[in-house]
Amino acid sequence: IKKSGILEMIPLKESFDEIGGLDNLKKWLSNKSIVFKNMNKAIEYGVDIPKGVLVVGMPGCGKSLNAKATAHLFGIPLLRLDMGRLMGKYVGESEANMRKAIKLAEAISPCVLWIDELEKAFAGIGNSGNTEVASRLFGHFLTWMQEKQSPTFVVATANDISNLPPELLRKGRFDEIFYVDLPTEDERKKIFEIHIGKRRKEDLEKIDVAKLSKKTDGYSGADIEGVVKESIEKAFVAGKEYVTTEDILTVIENTRPLSELLKDKIK
Ligand code: ATP
Repeated sequence: IKKSGILEMIPLKESFDEIGGLDNLKKWLSNKSIVFKNMNKAIEYGVDIPKGVLVVGMPGCGKSLNAKATAHLFGIPLLRLDMGRLMGKYVGESEANMRKAIKLAEAISPCVLWIDELEKAFAGIGNSGNTEVASRLFGHFLTWMQEKQSPTFVVATANDISNLPPELLRKGRFDEIFYVDLPTEDERKKIFEIHIGKRRKEDLEKIDVAKLSKKTDGYSGADIEGVVKESIEKAFVAGKEYVTTEDILTVIENTRPLSELLKDKIK
C-alpha cells in the first residue's frame, strides 16, 4: 500500500502561519487540536472523539496546505490517501486497498489521514456513472467513519461538493464541512505578505501589498504565489537589486487568474 503510493507519509513543513485567510477553519481546527492533544481528559469530560473535516472548494485556495498544517498543529504524522490510485483494476482490489489503507492508518494513529480528491472515488454514486465498486467502497468508508474509535483524524478534500453522494454530507460522518472560496481583498494582502516574506523578506516593508491585493480580485492563493515567484525571477534576471511594487504589478497586468480561465472554458 505504501510502496504503490496509495498511502504516503507527507513531511510536515507547513504551519498555520503560512495560510492567509481560512480563519474559521483554522479556529475550528485549533479547538480540535486541543481535544486531540488531551484526548483522555476530553473523553472523561464528555467531549466526543474528533472524527474529521471535509474541506470543499476552488482549486488553489489552500485545501492541501490546510491538511498539511493540520497535522503540524496536532503534532502527529500525516498520511495522504490517494483516491485515484486506490481504485484497482481487478475485482475486489479497490475494497482490499481501502481496507489495508485504513488498517495501516489505524496502526500508525494518532495520525491525520488526508483523503485527497474525495470525489475521484465517490462522485456520481447513484447516478448513471455509478459503478458497483464505488458504491461498495463508499459503504465501507462510511461505516468506518461512523464507527471508528481510533485517534485517526480525517481531513478530506474535494473540489466540487455537488458531485458527492449526499449520505457523505449528513451529520455524523464528518464533524464539519467547510467551503473554501477565493480569498477576499484582506486575505489576499496576507497571502502576498506570506509569499513575498518567504522569499524576499527584506523587500516586504517597501512593497505596497494593499495595492497588489486591490488589483488581484479573482486570484486564488496559488495564483498569487505564481505572481510573486514570477516577479522575483524577472527582477533577478533583469539584474535588479530589489523587487518593487511596480515589478509585481507588471506581472499582474500580464496574467489572468485560474478562476477566469475556468469561466471562459465553461462558456
Ligand atoms: P487543489 O484543489 O488544486 O489541490 P488546493 O486548494 O489544495 O488546490 P493548495 O495545493 O493548498 O490548493 O495550494 C497550492 C499552493 O498555493 C499552496 O502550496 C500555497 O503555496 C498557495 N496557497 C493557496 N492558498 C493559499 C493561502 N490561503 N495562503 C497562502 N498560500 C496559499
